[in-house]
Amino acid sequence: MTEHEEQRRRTPGRLTRRRLGITAGAGVAAAAGGKVAVDAAFADSDTENPTGGVRLRWLGTNAWEFKTETATVLIDPWVSRFPTGAYSSGGADPDTRIEVHEDVIDEHLPEADCILVTHGHWDHIADVPYLARRTGATVLGTETHLNLMRAMDAPEEQLGQVKGGEYYQFDGFTVEVFRSTHSAGGEHKRIVFGGTTTEAPKRPKRIKDLIEGGSLTYLIDFGGVSFFNAGSANFLDREIEGIRPTVLFVQPGGGHTPDYVGRMLEATGHPPYVVLTHWDDFDEPLTEPAVPGLDWEPVRDRVAEASPDSEFIVIDHLESHDF
Ligand SMILES: [Zn+2]
Repeated sequence: MTEHEEQRRRTPGRLTRRRLGITAGAGVAAAAGGKVAVDAAFADSDTENPTGGVRLRWLGTNAWEFKTETATVLIDPWVSRFPTGAYSSGGADPDTRIEVHEDVIDEHLPEADCILVTHGHWDHIADVPYLARRTGATVLGTETHLNLMRAMDAPEEQLGQVKGGEYYQFDGFTVEVFRSTHSAGGEHKRIVFGGTTTEAPKRPKRIKDLIEGGSLTYLIDFGGVSFFNAGSANFLDREIEGIRPTVLFVQPGGGHTPDYVGRMLEATGHPPYVVLTHWDDFDEPLTEPAVPGLDWEPVRDRVAEASPDSEFIVIDHLESHDF
């Protein structure tokens, strides 16, 4: 355990409430039997990761940067943000126009070697074509994801089509891809903006044009520390059977998926670290502390119950945690 981890263990929950402006009573985390930590120590630091491990940084939604001394991997890097009403109006307006804020992308996502796409919805994919052009990064996604991005001028030669089952070696890390599925709601188990396409459509203009296009999950292994991420609150148990990541991402929004959190923990062998993702209202600014879009405390409580030895970590907007 590093000194930094030691310190986090001694101060569970304190930063969570201060930084997130959440008015939880003292001892909520302890009462739930879990360990909660928010990491702010490296928030304003430009230094390299002193541990030589992986610096994980949150860019809101399911957008994560994994940085080592030699590589930068991004998953679902979307930072443009524009009002959709997704959380404030009970659902995003399908006709909301897609905006790509290149200045915001440049500010928050300076580099990338590899970009992993979990599914085609706007809050995961809309910034990737521009980012790929600027960085030259490899982009992995399904045939549909790549077709959507082709229609948004993504550079063809950087697009790697995957479907789940692939295992790729990159410089300093490996990526294993798993077939997955998106959370599906209502009586008829429908996926919002669902569908696939075998050819590049007309340029997507409204958020409903960015269809789900199949979902993938990823195991990113940097040697010594590995991360498993599902961009939506669903997964396929049998596809990921036996994986043992160091860090598991979980999100609220799994209300339609039977015991989403408990099953994820079981399928991944109760990882030592569980990181909360995709919990912020993404209509709110990225440069401010995250405003919860969905109530994440039941997720924390389920982790504490199902996996009491896992450390539950909440990272705020633009802040980092070193693994
Ligand atoms: Zn989605």
